[in-house]
Amino acid sequence: MTAAHENIRSEILVAGAGATGLAAALAFARAGLKTTLAGRIPPPLPGRTVALFESSVRFLDALGALERVRARGCAVEAIHMIDDTDQFLPVPELNLRAREIGLPALGVNVSNDDLVAILLDLCRDRSEIAFVDADIADYEFNGDGAVAILADGRRLQADFIVAADGRNSRARAVAGIDVKEWTYPQIALTMMLRHEFPHENVSTEYHTRSGPFTLVPLPAREDAPNRSSLVWLMSVADARRRLAKPREELEYEIEDFAKSELGAMRIEGDIGQFRMGGMQVSKHAAGRLALVGETCHIFPPIGAQGLNLSLRDVADLEDCLASVDLKNPRELSRALARYDRHRRGDIGFRTHGVDLLNRSLIIPYLPVDLLRGASFIAMAALGPLRRAVIREGVLPHLVLPRLMRRPAHKPEVAGAPHGRAGLRS
Ligand SMILES: Cc1cc2nc3c(=O)[nH]c(=O)nc-3n(C[C@H](O)[C@H](O)[C@H](O)COP(=O)(O)OP(=O)(O)OC[C@H]3O[C@@H](n4cnc5c(N)ncnc54)[C@H](O)[C@@H]3O)c2cc1C
Repeated sequence: MTAAHENIRSEILVAGAGATGLAAALAFARAGLKTTLAGRIPPPLPGRTVALFESSVRFLDALGALERVRARGCAVEAIHMIDDTDQFLPVPELNLRAREIGLPALGVNVSNDDLVAILLDLCRDRSEIAFVDADIADYEFNGDGAVAILADGRRLQADFIVAADGRNSRARAVAGIDVKEWTYPQIALTMMLRHEFPHENVSTEYHTRSGPFTLVPLPAREDAPNRSSLVWLMSVADARRRLAKPREELEYEIEDFAKSELGAMRIEGDIGQFRMGGMQVSKHAAGRLALVGETCHIFPPIGAQGLNLSLRDVADLEDCLASVDLKNPRELSRALARYDRHRRGDIGFRTHGVDLLNRSLIIPYLPVDLLRGASFIAMAALGPLRRAVIREGVLPHLVLPRLMRRPAHKPEVAGAPHGRAGLRS
């Protein structure tokens, strides 16, 4: 990574240095494009982990990050889902196992801070990436390119802007892309836990009337052999009440929610709290700009879809732009229309799916309860349906970009070039 100079010029400028922006900078640099990454390094996120599924695991492998992510994370081999709503139908517990679809694991769970640190290190190692540790104040778009303007007046010129600057994206606003936003009456509390009994690399998701309570395996530490992260959705009033409790009482309540399956609980470090909301955009690209990550989709953390979807945005964009001359407006516009079409389907499907499941839990309504219960019963009973659901969650085949197609750790074809042209061969 080169140091920042005045008036940098690059082919791609990535705005935002969160996990999505860092992955985008690496993906375009790997494809041989001169890339600027602009944005401040995000502050630590207390208690936050991300479960990254097989498609993301393959992408991390392509970016050269997988070994380090695996070393800091924990494999998730199965998801155990329990309807804990006391609904009318007797709903069976559901086990979604990686080995049912021929994989050793569904994915890997890693702390958000570790993931960002690993990707940042990799960006620093790449000579194609110039890192500018500052927020972008404004943009100018024209027929030939774009300029990102920093608060101190420095101008970063690029053929194309990849906006990964999060939910309040300045790039999106300047490009005039409309957003639709909504809120849920919920907060997610996040924390890391030590517990008495082993998790056996299984994530357990209790579907309660306030939203999911999800335990995800974490790696052992020398002084703590059994650890998990928790994402717990609840009403704002319950979150206030729980945060005001003495730790010991909260730990006891968590053990109770988890039916003592993992035994006694101890909270490690700080507890995070995040208001739940949703967001969709009117389009995912315009002119010389494309949106990735939370600039173009937000939904509650149910089924661990958010960053997995963001990494698909990045891999898909890299795919769509692969053989495009960025200086040619017609070629670019065709590629962006394709990107918009792909993202509309993938993002729309996840956003509506998560919204439906969340609302079906928090709004008790018998017909909806029955439908949710019936889908559990069908999945528990029908192997092909269950396997299709597992595959769609971890390796969605209809929208799988090339960088996510090759299974991790399969050797590259001997002598295959690593440059931009080589990727497309
Ligand atoms: C409780 C919780 C649990 C979750 N669990 C999972 C999970 O298990 N699996 C999963 O896949 N997803 C999960 N997610 C979703 C996932 O964490 C997010 O989708 C992801 O972190 C978003 O990353 P991002 O880089 O797109 O956005 P951000 O992390 O918001 O990054 C945006 C970056 O842009 C920067 N920025 C802002 N303005 C500017 C500017 N003007 N100029 C330059 N830079 C700017 C910001 O400083 C920030 O660093 C979870 C989310 C929550 C809330």
